[in-house]
Order: sequence, then structure tokens, then C-alpha cells
Amino acid sequence: MTILASEGVSFPITLPIVIIGSGACGLTAALAAKDAGAEVLVLERDPVPSGSTALSSGLIPAAGTRFQTSVKVEDTPAIFAEDIQAKAGGDAEQAIVDCVTENAGPCLEWLADRHDLEWVVLDDFLYPGHSRYRMHAVPEKTGSALIGRLIAAAQTAGVDIMTDALVTALYAESNTARICGLQITRPDGTKEDIGCEALILACNGYGGNAEMIRKYIPEMAGADYFGHTGNQGDAVIWGHELGAATHHLSACQGHGSVATPHGILITWALMMEGGIQVNLAGERFSNEHQGYSEQAVDVLKQPEGVAWNIFDERLHYLGMAFEDYQNAVLQDAVRKADSLEDLAAVTGLPLDALGKSIAETAGGSTDRFGRNFAATKPLEPPYRAVKVTGTLFHTQGGLRINDDARVLHEDASPLPNLFAGGGAACGVSGPRINGYLSGNGLLTAVTLGRIAGQRAAELVAGHSLKLVMGGGRRSTLG
Ligand SMILES: Cc1cc2nc3c(=O)[nH]c(=O)nc-3n(C[C@H](O)[C@H](O)[C@H](O)COP(=O)(O)OP(=O)(O)OC[C@H]3O[C@@H](n4cnc5c(N)ncnc54)[C@H](O)[C@@H]3O)c2cc1C
Repeated sequence: MTILASEGVSFPITLPIVIIGSGACGLTAALAAKDAGAEVLVLERDPVPSGSTALSSGLIPAAGTRFQTSVKVEDTPAIFAEDIQAKAGGDAEQAIVDCVTENAGPCLEWLADRHDLEWVVLDDFLYPGHSRYRMHAVPEKTGSALIGRLIAAAQTAGVDIMTDALVTALYAESNTARICGLQITRPDGTKEDIGCEALILACNGYGGNAEMIRKYIPEMAGADYFGHTGNQGDAVIWGHELGAATHHLSACQGHGSVATPHGILITWALMMEGGIQVNLAGERFSNEHQGYSEQAVDVLKQPEGVAWNIFDERLHYLGMAFEDYQNAVLQDAVRKADSLEDLAAVTGLPLDALGKSIAETAGGSTDRFGRNFAATKPLEPPYRAVKVTGTLFHTQGGLRINDDARVLHEDASPLPNLFAGGGAACGVSGPRINGYLSGNGLLTAVTLGRIAGQRAAELVAGHSLKLVMGGGRRSTLG
């Protein structure tokens, strides 16, 4: 990944807007740019668009939507912003928090009205840190269905997506950092140059780059990465070379509940509704209601870096609403036990300690970890158990942007024509792993993606695609 000087380079084709990455951020940006009348090209390294978006649970938080109103949920962007800052310890950048919380609802309604995406609100349990039911999902409630619907919308809107197109370099003016084009490398090693008037970085973060994780998030260096391996930190690497500011590179989303060795996400709803985690000694070690992101670190600190999720038949049926959990059942990751003795036998955990841990779920006052079980039912037989580990889902730090999704220099002035959103930009989780509020990932992907697409379209208004036959002169637009 590198920056090349654009001086003297001619591009055979120059497009008004190019977007790197075809996850939720890139596709939303493309739809917004297209709606605003701009011609746009999306470049994707994979043969088929998927990204971390396809691997995700597809849950997007938004406040004050008509979808919430239809299930009688009262919510506002201001309450949502307070929840985000409470989780981030007040350390998320307020302007971006305000921007995404105010724009998330309109973004989802626009995707519904203009691009036929359907939304349902999950109103059967609250994710840690959310004070209102505000998780929106497509009816299938999966990230793969979300990306499938975004791709279909992009196709209907006439968005061009070039796949098998790994962007390996950007061309920038040496003195201004204006992006003039980029170089793509095809799977057979051939290289092609494409010019652009504005560039949107939607290529997510550095979760797939082990060296960057060791450098910026050392506490997760030993964790398995559960996100898309193609996310190699290109946006941050290019940004540093261009003189752009980066922020909160120590932030990430972890998850303390991935079935091992199966590698299947076990929904945190089980913990929120009464389940517990115990270590190999059968003992609880944390407040499971703090958040699943920081729980990754707590689980990894336990002997062998594993824990057992302990819950019961009632919660098992709650889990069955999720496709991932159904897969875990199909792959025998979920063990059933009719009694406490059975549970000790199927897990190999010490009976006495396990019994004491389960007895804690009947407690009515705040326990030594700060969890209060008063609002949930005590666990009772038959029980269920899944062995889990802590993993890294995605990084939350990234390029510093303003509320127009423009990438900023260290002095907060914007680069001439560079935008970023989703995992490429700094998110709203502050600098720590416990700052991640569920849904912060897709929140910034779709919301900032839409803003980046709109603002980039305004920047290039009146420009159209230009072809230069036979090379020679650099193509110009406008
Ligand atoms: C298991 C799991 C569950 C999750 N669940 C949720 C959830 O329910 N809610 C939530 O809010 N968040 C969730 N997340 C986080 C969420 O998936 C991400 O925050 C979100 O998908 C980021 O979207 P994006 O468009 O920025 O990146 P991506 O969807 O990862 O898209 C980036 C794209 O850029 C491409 N790319 C990268 N570099 C280049 C390059 N140089 N050239 C060309 N293409 C390139 C990649 O191939 C990829 O397709 C989850 C993550 C995981 C791993």
C-alpha cells in the first residue's frame, strides 16, 4: 500500500467518484452518490462483495425511526448519543456522535423508501448499554442478508462494482495531497490505473493486519480475528502517508462469546436475559452485563483463554431466533443437561463451584462484580452450556473525519477530496475496548457512508466520466 506522485501521470479513464470497498459503508455511499446524480465506481478486492458486513449479525442502531414507533418504542437521537458516550466514558468525539445519532434514523428510512430495504426492530431484549430498543435489522436478521439487499439495491440503481480489484496505491498531488487516481492490482498481477475527482475510503480497519493489532491493540494480539481478512488497514496506512490525522487506534470491538472450536457467534442475548459465564474452575469472573466487547479480554485472561456460557432451556429458545445459534446447535456446540450433575459431567466443570455460580443467578442484590440478577429469572434445569473464547471482531480507530465525512489533517483542515466512513474512519467508541456500544460498527458504516456519498457528489457536481483515448494527457473533468 503506497502513495504515488500524480504529477505527469495520465489516466485512461477518470470517474467523478471512486469508492474503495463494497461493504455496508461503500454500498451505502454509492447509493447516496448515485441518488445525488454523480457517477460512481466501487472497487472491491474480493470476487464477490461481502466484507465484515456479511459476517456480522446485521444489527444497526437508530433512534426515532418510524420502525420504532410502529412497535411503540420512544427514542431520540439525544438519548442514543448519551448511551454512546456513557459506554465510551465520554471520550468519543461529540461532533461525530451527534452526527451519526441524528443521521442514523433518516439513513435507514431513506434506504427503505428509496432502495426497498425492509427493517424490523428487535424489541425482545436490550443490548448492553442501550436504554431503548433501537436495533434494526433486515427481516432475515443476518449480515449476509443485509449485504445481499444492499447489492441488489446497488444493481437496481445502476451502481458499477468492479470486483477482483485490489487497490494497491493512490496517486496524490505532492504538495496538496489531492487524490487524482489509484492503481488496482488484478488477481493475475496486472495493474490498471483509474482517475477520480473524489475518493471515498470504505475499506474498513486493520483487524486483519496482525502487525497493526500488535502495535495498536496489544491486549488483543493473541485473539483470533473473526472479521473479514481483507481488511488490512489500508485506509490508515494511506492516511499516515498523506499526512492525515488518525484517532483512537487502540479501540476495537471484541466479543467474549464465540463457540470454540466451532467459531460460531453465540448471541449475547443469553447473558442479558439471565445466563452467566464461568471459567474452567466453574467460577464466574466478571459482570456479564458490562458488554461483550470487553468481555473478550476477560475471557482470554481465564485459564486456557476459554469460558463456558451457562444458561437454560428458556434462554435456549431465545437463542433459536438467531441463525448463528441454530448453526451452533446443528454443530453440537450447545450441550444439554437435565440436572446440575449432568451439567458438571457434560462440561467437565467442578460440581460444587458450578452449583454456587448458578445459585448466584437467584440473587436479588448487586453482586461482587456489579451485576444485579433481580430483573432476570434464576437459571433452572434443564441447562445448556457452550464453551466459548474471546475474539477480535473489528477495529474502531481510524482516520479522523469531520461531520461531512471528510478526512482531516492534524490541524483539522480537510484534505482536498478524500472521504472516509465505516471502519476506515475513527468510530464513536473512544480509545478503549470497553467503549464499544453494540452496533457502533454498522452505525458508522451506513450513516457516514451516506454522508460521504452525498458530500462527495456535491464536491464533484457537474463533473462526468471522461475517457482519454490512447493515454497521453491526464484527463480532467468539469
Ligand atoms: C462476527 C461479527 C459480527 C458483527 N455484528 C455486528 C452487528 O450486529 N452490528 C454492528 O453494528 N456491527 C457488527 N459487526 C461489525 C461490522 O461488521 C463492521 O463494523 C461493518 O461491517 C463495517 O462495514 P465497512 O463497510 O466499513 O467494512 P466491510 O464490510 O468490512 O467492507 C470493507 C470492504 O473493503 C474491501 N477492501 C479492503 N481493502 C481493500 C482494498 N485495498 N482494495 C479493494 N477493496 C478493499 C474488503 O474486501 C471489504 O469487502 C460485526 C462484526 C463481526 C466480525
